[in-house]
Amino acid sequence: MDPDLVLILGAGPAGLSAAFELTRKDRRCALVEKNSSVGGLSRTLCYDGFLTDTGPHRFFSQNSSLYGFIAGLLGDRWIQVERLTRFYINGRFYLYPVDLKEILLRMERGVSFKIARDFILERAGKLFPGRPVISFEDKVVSDFGRTLAEIVMLGYTEKIWGLPCSGISPDWITQRIKNLSVQEIIQNAFFPRKNRPKTLVDRFFYPDRGIGRIFEEMKERVTAVDGNTLNLNSYPVKIAHGNNRISEVLASNGGRSFAFEPGYLISSIPVTEFVELLDPHPPGDILRAARSLRFRSHTALFITLDKPRASNNQWIYFPDRGVAFGRVTEPKNWSAAMAPADKTSLLIEFFCWHGDEVWNAAPEDLLERALPVLEKSGLAGKKEVMRYYVHREKYAYPVYDLHYKRTAETVKNYLGSFKNLRLIGRSGRFRYNNMDHAMETGMLAARSILEDKQYDLEEAGSEQAYFERGDVFLRQEAGDE
Ligand SMILES: Cc1cc2nc3c(=O)[nH]c(=O)nc-3n(C[C@H](O)[C@H](O)[C@H](O)COP(=O)(O)OP(=O)(O)OC[C@H]3O[C@@H](n4cnc5c(N)ncnc54)[C@H](O)[C@@H]3O)c2cc1C
Repeated sequence: MDPDLVLILGAGPAGLSAAFELTRKDRRCALVEKNSSVGGLSRTLCYDGFLTDTGPHRFFSQNSSLYGFIAGLLGDRWIQVERLTRFYINGRFYLYPVDLKEILLRMERGVSFKIARDFILERAGKLFPGRPVISFEDKVVSDFGRTLAEIVMLGYTEKIWGLPCSGISPDWITQRIKNLSVQEIIQNAFFPRKNRPKTLVDRFFYPDRGIGRIFEEMKERVTAVDGNTLNLNSYPVKIAHGNNRISEVLASNGGRSFAFEPGYLISSIPVTEFVELLDPHPPGDILRAARSLRFRSHTALFITLDKPRASNNQWIYFPDRGVAFGRVTEPKNWSAAMAPADKTSLLIEFFCWHGDEVWNAAPEDLLERALPVLEKSGLAGKKEVMRYYVHREKYAYPVYDLHYKRTAETVKNYLGSFKNLRLIGRSGRFRYNNMDHAMETGMLAARSILEDKQYDLEEAGSEQAYFERGDVFLRQEAGDE
């Protein structure tokens, strides 16, 4: 037994934040990370001199201290970017977040009429409440009217989740956009405030060489301290417990096994995997609950292009159900350092289930599927493509179906009975957290150990005013995810 040691599973934003906080207070920690680099979903990949995040990652937080924290880590490598993002719908680009006025003026007249009609009918319906809001579809249709919801939200959301919107919990949208004010949308569209100060709606912070820099930098600081260890390409194979405590974690790097008997265990690995590793196994109802929790996966096609720019947008949404992918990002529009001066690149995101046809598709198949739309939209032609690469993430999105909450609570309540265990992060808590909240859960878990005090880790990410007002409309893709 090594009571002073805190073992951390996963070196993504949550795990590294826990390690950072412990290190700041001179508490020894060891990290076990299955990848060959840190950062998890928030890491930056390098392909032949071109950089890209695994998916576009914009840092945003209501927690201003996190900005100061990252600025302290990155200094002048934490740059400000003027935001420009769009939708591509039926052959045309539209501003994102939705500008209602632009949509009404530029869409076909018949469509604009239907948008306005449905919107007004839904508003009028609010005077006679009664229709229950059970699903995500109920929520957005009642907020925006059927036609607008269909065009910009429902198709895209179904692509992300692979489920009909009637089977998705409204928690997803309420967790992300609690302060959505339809009144504000109308006011912004038709009576915009003059000289509105620039806010994080219009610009955002980003590390000059990709989001992963933040976590690389944290890793440097943690591993510089004697006694701390980072075990890459390693994963737990058994988590032994008894008397409501985790007693031993057996890990492997594929060849060699090594054991830890930590005073505390902090885990950010998918909670579904964690449960399977427990020895002895949890009761049957807990295993069944854990096995019914699902994650949506992410397949990203990265193409390098023989031209200096594809567009001036950071990212573009493709909500049409007929388009196989959901979003296209141009990393160079986030930071010039992401691509050589005379070249650019695009990251094309497909949402899928682990092991399905998209997950298994060959890179050239994915390129074939993407090219007609890239060509039609003017982003890239076949002859401009130099090389292409595919990156896959199995645990991208915890799926918020209509039953997820009770099921996840069953599992988390059981794991809560282990006194020296803390669950953190997005997959670790099965919670739709962004980077800032993942970091907060890691920091809070570390503090709860250092101060021997309980913090409510579930609370991170549920503050009322999470997103800045005005930026909220149609952020159903969850914090720009
Ligand atoms: C496409 C996409 C776009 C996104 N965009 C944004 C955005 O714009 N802004 C934002 O704030 N957030 C965004 N996010 C969310 C952000 O990526 C996550 O909130 C954040 O990375 C969660 O951090 P984490 O440490 O909890 O989990 P992860 O990033 O998943 O890290 C978990 C770590 O645990 C490791 N691990 C997993 N299993 C094991 C195992 N068995 N053994 C050992 N190690 C293991 C993983 O390799 C990983 O390093 C986006 C996510 C996606 C998928």
